[in-house]
Amino acid sequence: MSEPLYDVLIIGGGPAGLTAGLYTSRAKLKTLLVERMILGGQVMTTTKVENYPGFPGGIDGPDLMVRFQEHCQEFGLETVTGEVTGLVDKGGEKLVTVDDRVVRTRAVIITTGAEPSKLGIPGEAEFTGRGVSYCATCDGAFFRNVPVAIIGGGDTAAEEALFLTRFASKVYLVHRRDELRATKLLQERIFANDKIEPVWSSTVDQVAGDQSGVTSLVLRSRKDDAQRTLEVAGMFVAIGVTPKAHFLADILELDRDGYILTDAECRTSIPGVFAAGDVRKKILKQIATAVGDGAIAAIVTEKYLDDFE
Ligand code: NAP
Repeated sequence: MSEPLYDVLIIGGGPAGLTAGLYTSRAKLKTLLVERMILGGQVMTTTKVENYPGFPGGIDGPDLMVRFQEHCQEFGLETVTGEVTGLVDKGGEKLVTVDDRVVRTRAVIITTGAEPSKLGIPGEAEFTGRGVSYCATCDGAFFRNVPVAIIGGGDTAAEEALFLTRFASKVYLVHRRDELRATKLLQERIFANDKIEPVWSSTVDQVAGDQSGVTSLVLRSRKDDAQRTLEVAGMFVAIGVTPKAHFLADILELDRDGYILTDAECRTSIPGVFAAGDVRKKILKQIATAVGDGAIAAIVTEKYLDDFE
């Protein structure tokens, strides 16, 4: 039996991908959404989402994403688990490699998002899963009554530091500058929390440990270059994200940080290939903007398919 031809193939099942899928399946376009891990994307590792409109008092990230999925199911969105490794543009038809099969589609929406960046220091890889983590929501509960460090000064670091105070005896917030990038509201909560101790103007040179896991970090002051040891049982890295577009680097235009370049309506450098959400170069990365992107990409895709006929 020959492979069916989809109207739209969406790569990635976070807020942008699910929104695009909701719109295209509601518009009766034959849509397949391919997700590598679990539907929901980065929001699945967020404890509480406080700034997505419509949920006064906030909503747990996974609960919000289950609602997105249920909403998509109402319109019959087809989803499949698999990893996309290649995309070939044949004009009106695109060939997308999903695991070991090739899926034919008329248009593609890339919503692969981003993943936590790594520090790239000695000991980081060795102790990943044994004290080094990129997700406080996932791993925080393993660190009861022990001191931990969180690295970074943005919204993620601030939110995760606050979350970690539920378990850890102490949370060191290690930041390379002497002021946080996080929003004022989060900063106020950080400074009001006795369990959090900021360590300013410092970077991590090395992660040290033994068979039991991480035992300390070697910090370096950016003021006088002096090194010091910080005894902790865990290091949570929250220094921003890296876009997941490397597998498309040969065919799409990316910026130097690896984000997909698009116009304001989510068109990439290839006609019929669109990008939405955190994988796209844009000014603000929030669930609300991912949702907006997903809707725009879907409507522009629909128009592209109409015009092509
Ligand atoms: P971010 O805003 O890019 O912050 C990254 C932090 O890590 C910065 O403080 C940066 O320091 C530091 N950093 C970067 N590279 C480093 C390195 N090699 N060594 C040490 N420190 C390093 O990333 P994010 O906090 O993950 O947030 C990503 C986006 O998601 C942002 O737009 C954020 O607003 C959004 N977000 C929003 C919410 C929310 O609205 N509730 C929650 C989470 C994330 P500098 O400050 O010196 O550059």
